[in-house]
Amino acid sequence: MLGQDKTIGFIGLGNMGGPMTRNLLKAGFEVIGYDLQASLCEQAAATGLSIKSCVADVAAAADIIITMLPTGAHVVSVWADVAKSARPGALLIDCSTISVEAARASHKLAAEFGLQSLDAPVSGGVEGAMAGTLTFMVGGHQAARERAQAVLSAMGRRVVACGGDGAGQAAKICNNMLLGISMVGTSEAFALGKKLGLTHQALFDVLSTSSGQCYALTTHCPVPGPVPNSAANRAYKAGFASRLMLKDLELSQVAASSTQTATPLGKAARDIFLEMEARGDGEKDYSAVIQLIEAQ
Ligand code: NAD
Repeated sequence: MLGQDKTIGFIGLGNMGGPMTRNLLKAGFEVIGYDLQASLCEQAAATGLSIKSCVADVAAAADIIITMLPTGAHVVSVWADVAKSARPGALLIDCSTISVEAARASHKLAAEFGLQSLDAPVSGGVEGAMAGTLTFMVGGHQAARERAQAVLSAMGRRVVACGGDGAGQAAKICNNMLLGISMVGTSEAFALGKKLGLTHQALFDVLSTSSGQCYALTTHCPVPGPVPNSAANRAYKAGFASRLMLKDLELSQVAASSTQTATPLGKAARDIFLEMEARGDGEKDYSAVIQLIEAQ
């Protein structure tokens, strides 16, 4: 059910943003959008979005403005433009994956202009964005969270309140650090199992029903066969690109160092994905890390 906020501005119509806007349209919202890439604007217009010629024009015409952009620097700079042109009392929601510091700087910017704001990064990838089954991890004030419920529910299945400003990004960074570590560990187990003479299927059957069970194994299994939909069955075509996993692991290490937290396995995983990038494998699915491990 739609609330009072019927017009949604959406900035960043890429792999994630594009499909997310389609679910907003399906739910009955009017969606106006903008992306630096003209081809993406044309594709979005064909699905029913009304396209504006700049960020400020989107901000001036919307009740809620959502950003889905590559990095924290993009978000802070776009929010600076949005804040100047937004309607009084508008709500700004950033769904990108960025650092906790950049998220807090964005909230501060919004507050200076009397605007409500949330950081609401997502889990679920492009598939979840298309299916409308994303999980949103939300940081910010309760009133803003309640106001955002209808719009976030139109794009996702779960909306988790994580705490105050930046708490959504904090949760996202911890989750993806754990996912990166689990994928490296899962890949090491398969590499070792193979050398010990185990078939992939036999090891999968044991791990998936034993204490080694985890999401990296059961959903993104790094060897072909046991999980038919995993990227290993399509020559590691992403999926979740390893360069994006590297970005998230870098964010985890910035957060670990700013909070003086020891994350030796997070650091090791970061170094391993850095090596993948150096090998020219940044576009491969992150489960292709098993190829690097087996090559060592
Ligand atoms: P993408 O590169 O496909 O899309 C980002 C879009 O932002 C691009 O189309 C780009 O042109 C646009 N953009 C950049 N600067 C802009 C500006 N100033 N004004 C307007 N548009 C601008 O990236 P994506 O895969 O959609 O990811 C977006 C965010 O979501 C990232 O932070 C990423 O880490 C996060 N994320 C991605 C996935 C995934 O599986 N792709 C999953 C979870 C989270």
